[in-house]
Amino acid sequence: MSRCDHCGKETALPFTCQHCGGKFCEEHRLPPNHNCVNISSWNAKPRPSVSLNYGKGGVTVTGGGFIPDPRRNAKKTRAEGLPWLKIMAGIVALILLGLALLVMIGYRFG
Ligand SMILES: [Zn+2]
Ligand SMILES: [Zn+2]
Repeated sequence: MSRCDHCGKETALPFTCQHCGGKFCEEHRLPPNHNCVNISSWNAKPRPSVSLNYGKGGVTVTGGGFIPDPRRNAKKTRAEGLPWLKIMAGIVALILLGLALLVMIGYRFG
């Protein structure tokens, strides 16, 4: 059995503060509730994104902090110009191929 570092209440399953390493009861587990020495690092951390509350009238979901911007995930539909370099390279390759065929035909019938 350990005690809450803040109020001294005996707790079977103490919560360990990830910022100061202290052990606290359920009431004082959050850094603001036990005057955490590293509360600045807790403040810098994003809050859990979703918290569930099981109460009267079913489940209510409250968003906590970080909600991804849907526009950021949208595919970029940037209208790109035609890849002229690739087209030109294809045309040149076709011309070379045609010339090679002409040369072969010329040799055969010449
Ligand atoms: Zn306590
Ligand atoms: Zn703490």
